Amino acid sequence: MPDARLVDSKATFVLFNHILDVRLLRALADLGFARPTLVQTKAIPLALENRDILARARTGSGKTAAYCVPVVQKILNAKASLAAEDPARRATRALILVPTKELSEQVHTHLKGLLAYCDDEVAVANLSSGTTTHLQRTLLSDNPDIVISTPSRALALLQSKTLSLSSLDSFVVDEADLILSYGHDEDVRQIFSGGFLPKVFQSFLMSATMTEDVEALKGLALRNPVILKLEEDED
Ligand code: ADP
Ligand code: MG
Repeated sequence: MPDARLVDSKATFVLFNHILDVRLLRALADLGFARPTLVQTKAIPLALENRDILARARTGSGKTAAYCVPVVQKILNAKASLAAEDPARRATRALILVPTKELSEQVHTHLKGLLAYCDDEVAVANLSSGTTTHLQRTLLSDNPDIVISTPSRALALLQSKTLSLSSLDSFVVDEADLILSYGHDEDVRQIFSGGFLPKVFQSFLMSATMTEDVEALKGLALRNPVILKLEEDED
């Protein structure tokens, strides 16, 4: 559970009922997420307006759902406008970069909870699980809607053309401060600037701290972002 001080006591997820699919609202209720946290209250509506987001909020503030909820909602929106047999339904629309295998498992678990009522519509692949050969088969045959990966594995699969991001709509760098301090910055840079991405997509940079590296990545990854800096009193 998040720290009570980080929960928006005046808001409920029902406030989002005009923008969130009922399947997501039911999953949030099952997870026991009665009220959004502050970062979720601020980020979710703005993300659904397609704004790039830089969110700095401390560990435990609910940043995972702050980006996963809009990412899933946007995929549901995109699919709703496509006919059942349209091949464009099967495309990777979201990439979530995390610093470690453990974190990719945590984000995967979080997403599975959110997708409890729409896992027939939205498929997730965690690239940190399984062997490369297994992944290559899965990725080539399934085009999962959401891919979770460490930067190095995502870059390798992009370079071998196993993973295609030509339909990418949402690009998330979670734990951006850790990703960069773990020496992944060159891989992240190459993913952004190696010609793998479409012209237009939305970026999320989520971080517990603002480091110089995060500031530098902000310039590369974000266009006219909304900057959410919460808990200034923590500094
Ligand atoms: P962060 O990424 O900011 O460190 P997490 O997304 O991991 O935070 O969330 C911290 C904890 O709070 C997790 O156990 C998560 O399931 C829980 N949580 C997140 N949002 C809510 C919410 N709105 N209501 C109740 N619990 C929540
Ligand atoms: Mg987190």
